[in-house]
Amino acid sequence: MGKLVMGYWDCPYCSTKHIEGTSRECPSCGKPRGQEVKFYMDGVRYLSAEESRTKGKGADWLCDHCGNYNSALNTRCSSCGAERGSNDKAYFDVRKEQDAKNARSASGTGTAAGGQNSGQGGSKRGRSFGAWKIVLIGMLVIAAIIGLAAIIAMPKKRTVTVKDMSWKTSVDVEKYLLCDEDDWELPEGATLKTTKQEVHHTEQEYVGEREETYDSYEVIGSHVEYSYEDNGDGTFSEVANDVDDYGYVTRTRSVPVYRDKPIYKTKYYYTIWRWKYDRTETAEGGGKTPEYPDPQLTDKERLGEKSVEYEVTCEVKNKEKIYKVKEAIYDKLDIGETYNVKADSEEIVSIIE
Ligand SMILES: [Zn+2]
Ligand SMILES: [Zn+2]
Repeated sequence: MGKLVMGYWDCPYCSTKHIEGTSRECPSCGKPRGQEVKFYMDGVRYLSAEESRTKGKGADWLCDHCGNYNSALNTRCSSCGAERGSNDKAYFDVRKEQDAKNARSASGTGTAAGGQNSGQGGSKRGRSFGAWKIVLIGMLVIAAIIGLAAIIAMPKKRTVTVKDMSWKTSVDVEKYLLCDEDDWELPEGATLKTTKQEVHHTEQEYVGEREETYDSYEVIGSHVEYSYEDNGDGTFSEVANDVDDYGYVTRTRSVPVYRDKPIYKTKYYYTIWRWKYDRTETAEGGGKTPEYPDPQLTDKERLGEKSVEYEVTCEVKNKEKIYKVKEAIYDKLDIGETYNVKADSEEIVSIIE
């Protein structure tokens, strides 16, 4: 057991405060300490050897006959002389009963607070439901906008009168050129100019170990902290506890070191004849049959990719509109005729027969 520390109590009868725990009666009114008394500490005042002699031997007991507290060493009440019986409660049992009584009287006000709490909870639910509704409405609006956009973009039935038809054609011209190139392999038909050793890629190479310092959070020592236990006899026992101290310590560790090692390979520098895009020739006209440009080609030129686009100018609800069309539809249309078609905002996609 640790050292004994003086406890104090307040007299519930005459309101004298800070009475030493070694006193059994109030020095002012002479009343013995009763069941309302609760010991407390006020700083650490160690008991002298003399004071310690009869203390720390067990909690005091309350005489059921006269309400006087007695030392655990006494088998008879020092006030009325009654022998200690099974009805005589020890200090901690008395405290437990007193605390329960205090809690009950405190819970009387606690109920009202509880009611208020549940009221707040209700309004909180209402608020979160409101936020949830806003999110839902937002999502519905977005869905409606997407749906509307899809409906607008969808091809619709229209009656159109063809006013004009036109095509645009284009042809790429390619030129046969001697090109300078380099690569890791020499292609067929190439004329080698030179080769060089060049870095193809790099590999990680282990070089060795390196010491590095780092901060380590660890136990760097300890100190003693004291806690105090109520002995229930007007004293407290001091208990010493070892508590670890933590801190940062600079430590070193070994880490692997790598370097980028270049890997060399033979690179070929060469010339090679290749067909290369040179230019695009275009043509446009209004007939049913599109004509492609027919440029004059030298013996080192050839035709590449071809493309064609068709457009029809239509009258739709007294308004002029230009639609793109595919070749199959362009073939079926004639100037001056009226057709029922399906069209989106840019293209006639089909003719309704
Ligand atoms: Zn008193
Ligand atoms: Zn008694």
